[in-house]
Amino acid sequence: MENNSNFIKNIMKEDLETGKHNTVITRFPPEPNGYLHIGHAKSIFINFGLADEFNGKTNLRFDDTNPLKEDIEYVNAIKEDVEWLGYKWENLLFASDYFEEMYKRAVLLINKGLAYVDDLNADQIREYRGTLTEPGKNSPYRERTIEENLALFQAMREGKFGNGEKVLRAKIDMASPNINLRDPVIYRISHASHHNTGDKWCIYPMYSFAHPLEDAIEGVTHSLCTTEFEDQRPLYDWVIRECEMESTPQQIEFGRLNITNTVMSKRKLKLLVDEKFVDGWDDPRMPTISGLRRRGVTPEAIHEFSKELGISKGSGAVDSAMLDHFVREDLKLKAPRTMGVLNPLKVVITNYPEGQVEMLDAEINPENPEMGIRQIPFSREIYIEQEDFMEDPPKKYFRLFPGNEVRLKHAYFIKCEEVIKDDQGNVMELRCTYDQETKSGSGFTGRKVKGTLHWVEATNAIPAEFRLYEPLILDDEADEMAEGETFLDYVNEKSLEIVQGFIEPNMKEVQAYDKFQFFRHGYFSVDPKYTTAEKPVFNRIVSLKSSFKL
Ligand code: ATP
Ligand code: MG
Ligand code: MG
Repeated sequence: MENNSNFIKNIMKEDLETGKHNTVITRFPPEPNGYLHIGHAKSIFINFGLADEFNGKTNLRFDDTNPLKEDIEYVNAIKEDVEWLGYKWENLLFASDYFEEMYKRAVLLINKGLAYVDDLNADQIREYRGTLTEPGKNSPYRERTIEENLALFQAMREGKFGNGEKVLRAKIDMASPNINLRDPVIYRISHASHHNTGDKWCIYPMYSFAHPLEDAIEGVTHSLCTTEFEDQRPLYDWVIRECEMESTPQQIEFGRLNITNTVMSKRKLKLLVDEKFVDGWDDPRMPTISGLRRRGVTPEAIHEFSKELGISKGSGAVDSAMLDHFVREDLKLKAPRTMGVLNPLKVVITNYPEGQVEMLDAEINPENPEMGIRQIPFSREIYIEQEDFMEDPPKKYFRLFPGNEVRLKHAYFIKCEEVIKDDQGNVMELRCTYDQETKSGSGFTGRKVKGTLHWVEATNAIPAEFRLYEPLILDDEADEMAEGETFLDYVNEKSLEIVQGFIEPNMKEVQAYDKFQFFRHGYFSVDPKYTTAEKPVFNRIVSLKSSFKL
């Protein structure tokens, strides 16, 4: 199987040229049992993108055939996420709206002698199924008459049996080399309320029976799915054919997206939410679309990322740095530059006049001069970062230390004259002097300094919180691990660091999702959940450094 979207494009092109289809109709079919993640974005990009190339249409269809795990909360979140990614669906559809139609098709199979009610339980069915090297055994109930099967299936629908007491199975071939064709279960009993159909049904179709019918009912021409479903394709075609569907969609598989240090299964993501490892599906560390949005990743970056995946071959895990790369590319020209001081240290500039505040000009974005100039105050008291001062520095430390001179970005050179400490010896404040001649933009060339520090004027500074993230999952193997707690052992306890600090006073009015590049710290986005009128909270989207090369 090629992991390349061009082969799908070629099939579509040929189908239009040969007249097999006169239009392309695709669907994005999430199960509303969780929030969408970045893997879904790839599927969305492929489904919507390819249909669009042929002036076709894409439906958003909720594949909601499993009442126990599905919820309207997820339906709403998925709609919001698809829209936010910038896609417009043609029709909004629910598989559960076709339950009656699916039931009729199942009855048709029974009438054709191609389906039977089985009393074996799930374990027995598995036992009877055989293995790759061993054919399966027929169920003792396989030869029930059509009449008996019709009556039993009807009784199943009427709620005469408990969960798991009976199933409906397709009668195909218990010796098929493809295990999926060994009389797959197509209906099960589940006395559970459904988010859409309520208590109307107590039998629900299985995915492998429902999905081809959903596609055919909607006139989908090309049903794109991930490669795990390759072995199901013969069953997909069997269902379409034997249920005598008018329309004949074609299933085509593409490579599932995997990303390093990232779990991408809704079941596992739900566990992280339920066990409170994160503060919700939209926690900025989550690979969900809502988490990425809250973190500050833009739809444009996700789009460019998906585009790059679309043409790249190979199905190995993609480096998580690749998405970061597209975030930087997208924000480079858009995000205003600013200065934020994390873990502040007060600096008093002793030779600067008391009470004086001067306004300095600073470019908003040197890579995009059209964004203009901002004004930042400077006075006798400023904050720098604790990290930018060392009393006893190693060699090649070019930041501030006693006797050393550095440049303050957009301002003056300052020199460290004195260190003020508390009783425990902690550095509480620095006393520095500045040199008026060295003002930024004045053309001063008298002497050079090696370090440039960012800073914020102290009396006008706005308190702010910064949230710095590391991968939520420590090990790449974690996504491959079996059911159970073990996956949670790989959660990175240090994935969130909360730091207090100050930002420039011109940022008083920041709104949720506003994005900035903080000098030396990277790109940040205003958090919609924790930001208050008094204190904005910034999520670091990505740092500035990147070792990633395309
Ligand atoms: P999960 O295991 O995360 O629950 P899923 O495949 O069960 O994923 P669905 O809601 O059924 O999730 O997915 C909707 C569509 O998105 C399907 O067509 C599916 O193939 C596709 N999809 C899901 N995960 C990925 C992924 N990692 N890469 C590419 N496509 C994906
Ligand atoms: Mg699924
Ligand atoms: Mg799933």
